[in-house]
Amino acid sequence: MEVDYLVVGQGLAGSLLSYNLLKENKSVLIVDSNEEITSSKIAAGIYNPITGRRLVKTWLADSLFPFLDTFYSDLESFLGTTFLHKKAMFRPFDSISDQNYWYGQSSDEAFKSYIRLVETDQEILKHYHAPYGGFYTELSGYVQVKLMLESFDTYFQQQGMILQENCSVENLTILEDKINFKNISAKAIIFCEGHNNKDNELFKYLPIEPTKGQILDVKIDNYQIESIVNKRVFILPESNYQRIGSTYERDFDDLLPTEEARNDLSAKLEAVLKSQYKIINQRTAVRPTTVDRRPILGKHPLYSNVFIFNGLGTKGVSLAPYFSLQMANFLIHHKPLMPEVDIRRFDYLYH
Ligand SMILES: Cc1cc2nc3c(=O)[nH]c(=O)nc-3n(C[C@H](O)[C@H](O)[C@H](O)COP(=O)(O)OP(=O)(O)OC[C@H]3O[C@@H](n4cnc5c(N)ncnc54)[C@H](O)[C@@H]3O)c2cc1C
Repeated sequence: MEVDYLVVGQGLAGSLLSYNLLKENKSVLIVDSNEEITSSKIAAGIYNPITGRRLVKTWLADSLFPFLDTFYSDLESFLGTTFLHKKAMFRPFDSISDQNYWYGQSSDEAFKSYIRLVETDQEILKHYHAPYGGFYTELSGYVQVKLMLESFDTYFQQQGMILQENCSVENLTILEDKINFKNISAKAIIFCEGHNNKDNELFKYLPIEPTKGQILDVKIDNYQIESIVNKRVFILPESNYQRIGSTYERDFDDLLPTEEARNDLSAKLEAVLKSQYKIINQRTAVRPTTVDRRPILGKHPLYSNVFIFNGLGTKGVSLAPYFSLQMANFLIHHKPLMPEVDIRRFDYLYH
């Protein structure tokens, strides 16, 4: 079998990249090991332009957020599934001075289209400690990533373009003009392996630092709030439960849920939530985070037909649409990559 591109990994990165390649009429074969627990399958899928403890506009927000809206909507039509949910995110103020600060910021052109201030909201006050009001972020929401990937998988299977197995560098033959894997011959290969990159002989020199994340599924009594609430933890309403997350753990030995994480998330939730709740599930996975918090795209320093698209970190849902297109344009049209995401920034680590 001969194809233009062999894509390793059918997470968020590999799926969206493959979609962009297909739109350019390229032939693609995806190899995925079908692990039960992956970052994409566990992700809450939230996208949000105002983040961090100091609440700043995220990197490239003005480009990423309008773009992702159109991208996921088009993708919903393509796959015939609904997984994009536009939802405002409520951020309670800590104090009067916090409130004053944000009243100042709200008239700033840079924030105007992103936030909407509120003094009180009865439904919020019923469940949350929010005496000083807060603001809603616009252009936020969530993507049901697992559902989207299942729809992709169905589509890829129908097209006969996905194989369920592991694809390691040791099983590849890399020639000047093609890559051979089993009975497949491809013009190029793109690794989209998430945190498994650490086992990839060709790319393990890259500073992708796995970060474990844990999430609780809870049921809050009489909860009718439709927006996402965020105050040190997010509270994301699903159809009949709420998701609370998440932890950021650099040191970990395994993927098991821990009591420490459960206590940490519960304590943060109880600091803002007035209502009673019960925990119904706890899940974990590992994010592919990078030292400089930017994705990694580009060509291997030595091989002209070996590529990577990885490092989506904590914000895969907002980064993947924009950068999967940038990666496809780089592969097909040789358009330059943004220097901040170009793998060449780490050339000094390659020996
Ligand atoms: C608890 C938690 C909460 C999160 N919440 C959010 C959120 O709210 N918003 C957000 O934007 N992001 C969130 N994320 C981050 C998000 O999940 C990641 O940015 C993104 O999913 C990474 O996608 P990926 O495709 O790079 O990697 P992965 O999801 O890890 O996918 C890699 C795929 O490649 C396959 N694979 C790997 N190696 C091989 C191989 N050698 N051969 C064959 N197949 C292989 C794996 O089986 C997997 O299917 C969260 C992550 C966690 C853990």
